[in-house]
Amino acid sequence: MATTTIQEPARDLPVRGEYEVVVLGGGPAGIAAATAAAMHGRKVLLVERYGFLGGMGTAAGVTNFCGLHANVHGEIKQVVRGVAGELLSRIDRLGGLNAPHVVFGKIAAQAYDTAAYKCATDDLLLGHGAGILFHAFGAGVIMDADDSIRALIVETKSGRQAVIGQIFIDCSGDGDLAAWAGAPFEHGDGAGGMLYPTMMFRVNGVDPAVAGDAWKTIPNLMDEAERRGVKFPRKGAVVRPQKNPIEWRVNVTQMKHSDGRALDGTKADDLSVGEIEGRRQAAAFFEFLKREAPGFGNAYIVDTPPQLGIRETRRVSGHYQLSRDDVLNCASFPDTIGVNGWPIEKHVAGDVEWLWPAIPQSRGFNHLPYRMLLPRDVSNLLVAGRCASMTHEGQSAARVSGACFVMGQAAGTAAHLALSGNSALDQIPIEALQKLLEKDGAYLGRDVDS
Ligand SMILES: Cc1cc2nc3c(=O)[nH]c(=O)nc-3n(C[C@H](O)[C@H](O)[C@H](O)COP(=O)(O)OP(=O)(O)OC[C@H]3O[C@@H](n4cnc5c(N)ncnc54)[C@H](O)[C@@H]3O)c2cc1C
Repeated sequence: MATTTIQEPARDLPVRGEYEVVVLGGGPAGIAAATAAAMHGRKVLLVERYGFLGGMGTAAGVTNFCGLHANVHGEIKQVVRGVAGELLSRIDRLGGLNAPHVVFGKIAAQAYDTAAYKCATDDLLLGHGAGILFHAFGAGVIMDADDSIRALIVETKSGRQAVIGQIFIDCSGDGDLAAWAGAPFEHGDGAGGMLYPTMMFRVNGVDPAVAGDAWKTIPNLMDEAERRGVKFPRKGAVVRPQKNPIEWRVNVTQMKHSDGRALDGTKADDLSVGEIEGRRQAAAFFEFLKREAPGFGNAYIVDTPPQLGIRETRRVSGHYQLSRDDVLNCASFPDTIGVNGWPIEKHVAGDVEWLWPAIPQSRGFNHLPYRMLLPRDVSNLLVAGRCASMTHEGQSAARVSGACFVMGQAAGTAAHLALSGNSALDQIPIEALQKLLEKDGAYLGRDVDS
């Protein structure tokens, strides 16, 4: 009979250190969480599996911030500031930030260069005194009592180690830490579906004068090619220039099983299949661009990123779940910790579907309540970013970078307040949290009615 399990001998783990706040994952949420806690003097360690920060923004080659802006009664305004604002300034000072560009005539997004993002985030965290442990893969937890985490276990080149903490913030995007600690979570849409993963890629050597506004014409070229029998992974291709207009990013691939279901970013085998299939789809789409898109004749693929882009896996079930109606109706919450102005962007089979709040009748953003960061059943844990407490459709909006920065800053600040008041995370005074967030430059969206 085949061996299906094998026993690992018990062993003592070296303790890497003891921290007031331990953050798992260095994407937008983790960057903001670690910065916010450290800026208030907390001893913080951010644990990240790669050798750089940025999460999907760098590791999956996203290279574009969405959700920093909202369409407020017809006027596009930046609504995410605070730690994100300081990060933008740092990226800009390194020459790596585009001016915001308008999307569908309704909202703005802002592209950046990954090299500048990586350097800017190193400096941001270290400048505020946060510690960073790179090349450390979170692998499990050691629980203290039933409902509290004592240590995060990490696998590193120096071996397996324990990181002891008072408060943990799960910014892994996949809810890894929360799941290990026993917090309840949902996975995808509950019917085996999830937002589809995408392998991003960047193209260099584009002739900008010839390409012009090719992002407007490429979808039409794709429609024509489809009529000739060319197959594409999905509609709604995003092909747009970076800071240097000879370089363009391409967001068009879509990873699925043979039965059409999205690959699952928490499954090792799915990830392996997706990396290979992603590069295959990228190469195939590039052939189309080179052949048919104006200005792409002498271009080449300059980068496929370190990993497949994962939009959605686990969403931790917290004290409140942000929903589709909250996004579309621009919901207000008394415990607002910031806002989301990005619409619902559903990556469905073969396409991208968009659902918007009323423009210009509405204020174009919803509040993000503190309760969506508070998981059930684990007392010293907060969850921020794309794995926070949202429904499948709520997450289709508030998973983008802007809202993840907001959630991260609030989680780091809440951890600081809980430590200073010696109070439980679900008992911190909300007004004190809101006051401190505003003092630190965050926008809570309380000045405009929905
Ligand atoms: C293809 C694609 C295109 C997108 N386009 C845009 C866009 O244009 N604009 C936009 O704003 N958003 C976009 N998004 C969404 C956005 O990038 C993510 O939702 C956002 O980065 C989520 O931030 P986060 O901090 O929650 O998690 P992530 O960005 O996923 O970061 C999680 C971090 O945790 C680390 N990590 C995970 N598990 C472990 C572990 N066990 N141990 C150690 N480290 C771990 C990861 O390496 C990563 O650095 C896109 C996403 C994809 C996949």
